[in-house]
Amino acid sequence: MKNSLKPVIGITARVEKDQTYTLDPVYGKAILQSGGLPLIVPNVDEEDIPALCERLDGLIVTGGGDINPTLYGEEPHIRLGAVYPGGDQYEKELILNFLKLDKPFIGMCRGLQMLNISLGGTNYQDLEAQFEGTLYQHKQLAMRTHRTHSVELEDGSQLLEIMKEKNFHVNSFHHQGVKDVSSELRVAARAADGLVEALESDKHQFVMGIQWHPEEFAVQGDEASKRLFDRFVKECAKDNGQNQ
Ligand code: MN
Repeated sequence: MKNSLKPVIGITARVEKDQTYTLDPVYGKAILQSGGLPLIVPNVDEEDIPALCERLDGLIVTGGGDINPTLYGEEPHIRLGAVYPGGDQYEKELILNFLKLDKPFIGMCRGLQMLNISLGGTNYQDLEAQFEGTLYQHKQLAMRTHRTHSVELEDGSQLLEIMKEKNFHVNSFHHQGVKDVSSELRVAARAADGLVEALESDKHQFVMGIQWHPEEFAVQGDEASKRLFDRFVKECAKDNGQNQ
């Protein structure tokens, strides 16, 4: 693939104190490794979101802090962490506009939760306080490449078709999680305690959310995680019409 033909894949960054963008470089590395061109997407004015989406071949909404519960009609739980309401609203508009174009999309970690909430789902504001039943550790203290808990991928899911492994362990850096799944999405993976770890859309060609961080494993050479990024970039190249 010539450089000029590589699909351009937007990755969102965290806005801190209204002025500083932060983003772990690992997302970009995983995209580059699979033949895509990563582009860090800033928060733009709402009226410019459609034009921005038109120019991107794919989009990853990345991880970050807590999501404002007002987005799904709840009062703030006492254990809610730091939220950035402007960023939440921006990401929701970005996701809805991008899905309208049916271009390849992955929501990673918080991005999975934003995908679900943007389509009418809800969150646990704090798993430890609100999850019913036995909860395993989802906010690991070990390094980012450590695989702390297991997941099982659903039969018939796109994720299983791509990764080709049904049971494996993943890293986990969240104290919030998916509660009610949007009627527009389907569960693609769960942890052993029953918590949703991946979602997919049947109404789009390639729209998924993943609660763990496969980009960390992809850049370490994990074959199943690399297959995921390879397929994502391939889908993005298909959509930009430059893959024939
Ligand atoms: Mn987890």
